[in-house]
Amino acid sequence: MHKMEEKIRREGKVLPGGILKVGNFLNQQIDTAFLEEMGDEIAELYEGCGVTKILTIESSGIAIAAAAGISMNVPMVFAKKHKTSNVDGEIYSTTVHSFTHNTDYHVVVSHDYLLPEDRVLLVDDFLANGHALRGLVDLVHQAGAEVVGAAVAIEKKFQGGGDAIREEGIRVEPLACIASMSDDSITFCQL
Ligand code: 5GP
Repeated sequence: MHKMEEKIRREGKVLPGGILKVGNFLNQQIDTAFLEEMGDEIAELYEGCGVTKILTIESSGIAIAAAAGISMNVPMVFAKKHKTSNVDGEIYSTTVHSFTHNTDYHVVVSHDYLLPEDRVLLVDDFLANGHALRGLVDLVHQAGAEVVGAAVAIEKKFQGGGDAIREEGIRVEPLACIASMSDDSITFCQL
């Protein structure tokens, strides 16, 4: 999605520690027209794959996951972050390491919202080391459902998470893929 590359070039800001800030259009202020295009692009990538549900993690994945859900006409579920692992009730839960906050947190989904017959598309804003997506894969497997693949707005390929997940046989589609970045330059991978 060349538009995403243009958007990152124009509006993204590289922060120390390999973090790209896209608060201007995705992470705080949302460019709603562009969000709709992202949803359509994800729907096109996974057209005909029989996706029945979209799964993301709160909070930064919710907007793009909802846009994809609207375009694909399927429900979107978000895993909720929980401070403790001992949550009562009928839930699937897993632990995820946060790249941006450098801490572990628990995420949970009610049994009601992930069913064994679901074919699930994982959606997130960023893919870095792959911990968030791996947590989502774990939740889908706990439910006995199937992972159809993953779609992320921005993959930072230099962190290796996407390729490690692909090596496990999971399809991963970024809308833009960053090969390398520094304070004053961003190099994109060919998609
Ligand atoms: P991973 O689990 O793949 O290491 O990191 C993905 C998660 O960390 C995403 O859900 C996203 O919220 C956050 N993240 C990772 N890298 C970046 C980044 O460069 N910028 C922002 N804004 N978030 C990031």
